[in-house]
Amino acid sequence: MKGKVILIGAGPGDPELLTVKAFRILQIADVVLTDRLVSPEILATYVSPKAEIIYVGKQCRKGASTPQATINELMVSHANEGKLVVRLKGGDVSIFSNILDELETLVENNIPYEIVPGVTAALGAAAYAGIPLTARNYATALRLLTAYKPDVVPANYWKELAATDDTLVFYMSSETLADVVQNLCANKISKDKLLAVVEQATTPFQKVHISSLYEYDKKLSDKKFRSPTLVIIGKVVALHQQFDWFKPKNGSVEYFSSADNKSINVSEPLALTA
Ligand code: SAH
Repeated sequence: MKGKVILIGAGPGDPELLTVKAFRILQIADVVLTDRLVSPEILATYVSPKAEIIYVGKQCRKGASTPQATINELMVSHANEGKLVVRLKGGDVSIFSNILDELETLVENNIPYEIVPGVTAALGAAAYAGIPLTARNYATALRLLTAYKPDVVPANYWKELAATDDTLVFYMSSETLADVVQNLCANKISKDKLLAVVEQATTPFQKVHISSLYEYDKKLSDKKFRSPTLVIIGKVVALHQQFDWFKPKNGSVEYFSSADNKSINVSEPLALTA
């Protein structure tokens, strides 16, 4: 008998942002194929102790990563053995992830599947940084973007991004941030739109850096941000000052295990504040 694959979004970091549905499924899973940006606490606490956890993390620029073909093969082979396979991804499964490849593989191989959404990093970072993304009188829309390499955003689109009042959220763009800022300033983005860089959002090591885009060079350009980092741009960023409720420890520790460090450490530093 064929098993099943359930693609699950694990949320952005704080393990309690996992959905109840995801928790229920992790308790009965036989195999969990997990990404790097999944809370180690979720793996240690919410996954059935009987489940086999397989790390298939990717970290584009840092080299060590599992090829997509291997991930596809693992999903198929375990499901064909009749197992309940969870494919666990950081944030939401459909935002800047390879879900399409995986769905196509499942359909081609006639494997039953389900999709469970998760809290995407933009929503986690916005909540924990006290930045309401479409606050009344500030923004009426939200755009989820990436500039992970310089040419993903076409030159003429920068003009529109600089002009719009929509809140802009950039994923996977901390290393190209100087270009993002430069392109928006070159297209005369308004001075009342601010930039927030949110490092390790929703984890005990979250850090929020705020700057005007025009002061980026002076204030932020020589900072090295810890991965993962999300960038929020818009008038709404000013609200952070007033609604900054989350007071993490602000240590300088990496919450997510790196590709070459697969050990899970759920000792004291990871405990969330109440
Ligand atoms: N599917 C994920 C996004 C995967 S792309 C989601 O829905 O959130 C990976 C990028 O997401 C990172 O480069 C970073 O920009 C962002 N990201 C994920 N988790 C984050 C976190 N806890 N804090 C800040 N950014 C995060």
